[in-house]
Amino acid sequence: MSEAHRGEKRVGETVTGEIRPSLVVMKFGGTSVEDAKAMLRTAAIVRGRRERGLKPVVVVSAMAKVTDQLLAAAAAAGRGDKNGALAIASRLRNRHLDTAAELLCGDLFTEIRAAICKRFDALDDLLRGIAAVGELTPRTTDKVMSYGERISSQMVAAVFAQHDMNGMHVDARKCIVTDDHFGKAAAQEAAIEAKLTEMVLPLVEAGHTPVLGGFIGSTVEGITTTLGRGGSDYTAALVGGGLRAGAIEIWTDVNGIMTTDPRICPDALRVKTISFEEAAELAYFGAKVLHPATILPAMQKSIPVWVLNSRNAENEGTRITAMAPPCASPFKCIAAKKRLTIIDVVASRMLMSHGYLKDVFDVFDKYHCVIDMVSTSEVSISVTVDSNERLPEICAELSKMADVKLEGHKALICMVGEDIRGRSGISGRVFSAIRHVNVRMISQGASEINMSFMIEESDVDEAVRSLHAEFFQDPDPTVFDTDARVVAAKA
Ligand code: ASP
Ligand code: MG
Repeated sequence: MSEAHRGEKRVGETVTGEIRPSLVVMKFGGTSVEDAKAMLRTAAIVRGRRERGLKPVVVVSAMAKVTDQLLAAAAAAGRGDKNGALAIASRLRNRHLDTAAELLCGDLFTEIRAAICKRFDALDDLLRGIAAVGELTPRTTDKVMSYGERISSQMVAAVFAQHDMNGMHVDARKCIVTDDHFGKAAAQEAAIEAKLTEMVLPLVEAGHTPVLGGFIGSTVEGITTTLGRGGSDYTAALVGGGLRAGAIEIWTDVNGIMTTDPRICPDALRVKTISFEEAAELAYFGAKVLHPATILPAMQKSIPVWVLNSRNAENEGTRITAMAPPCASPFKCIAAKKRLTIIDVVASRMLMSHGYLKDVFDVFDKYHCVIDMVSTSEVSISVTVDSNERLPEICAELSKMADVKLEGHKALICMVGEDIRGRSGISGRVFSAIRHVNVRMISQGASEINMSFMIEESDVDEAVRSLHAEFFQDPDPTVFDTDARVVAAKA
């Protein structure tokens, strides 16, 4: 299939209006703003982009672990433990104040100190209120969690101002308009685009570096919401999409997407470029770099997303694009997802009888249990699910309609690559590479870009290494960073 032909099926063609090639959205995760040192590293990276003539819009997460601690404070308050909640808030207040003191001086420090104190006073009041009523709602939880990003973004903007980068804080809640699904609010992209154009674009054009907190938004009525854990990447894609940025950079603490987990397989290589579809597939199967939904707003506008390492800024990272360049190797990555359980549902009543599958899936749905893989035969259906504490209840209900068998300690190996589309002989190579491993369930996703199968958890390391050796012996240098391997071989 020719590249041009392949492109036709892709998302990424709904682009309206011109892309702004010099505008770059740079998102920094919690570890990239975890302390004064990290914030300075972040400032240096953004400055580098400005010096290249680019116009950065920066999105930051809360300082590392802050969201977890805010959640813990909210939970303590919800239990009526006012002092416990306030103690957590007080430690957070000191951590932010100490970091600001290390980074800022003069008026900038005075201002930010006052701002931090004001926010934490309001947070204390909120926690006292929650403790007094002894009830924590999703709405107040979002409010509590929002402080992490609200404060980190203000601090980072001040650091940029201190370093002559014209940092300018923008309250993300004023731009990221969402519905009121607290805890995982849905973004309203048209409204967001309008707000960004009105509030952020003029700042960029005037030479400022706008800084927004990720993860947070608000309803049209102005009630604070959050986009779901890890939601700052999503904010970055929304901002990039809304402003039609030339690129979105996700700065994290890894060198980009790797062919597999380097802790399992030291030979793992950096993938230089990968398609949206492949990245989404990978994220679904447990690769922690990006969440698929996250990049959708960017994908729809064909904006390339880069995954980069803020501790190793020279590294080229991984570029995620709407369309994958051709690659001589069939697979891009091998992901493994552990802690899975296989549930076999065997019914004498015909599986294919009308409505039966629905009844089975309804049970999983009722317990909000996500199914990873399904395979069926005439009388049985096997599904794999993340091991979770509701499994006994699910099985009890399924037992009413069938014989049910559970097998734990399973793992899913998922091999992703657009270049397996329509190629033959690939599965033969896969299964002969791991012929010594017992394979339990096999599926080739409808997307035709992944092959996955279940094995025992204890076989994962061995299987991943064998597969990696089979498929990445002679990697295509246009897609994989083979230099690292050459350097290692010479050393
Ligand atoms: N701070 C939020 C979280 O920890 C959002 C993010 O980091 O992306 O989930
Ligand atoms: Mg994250």
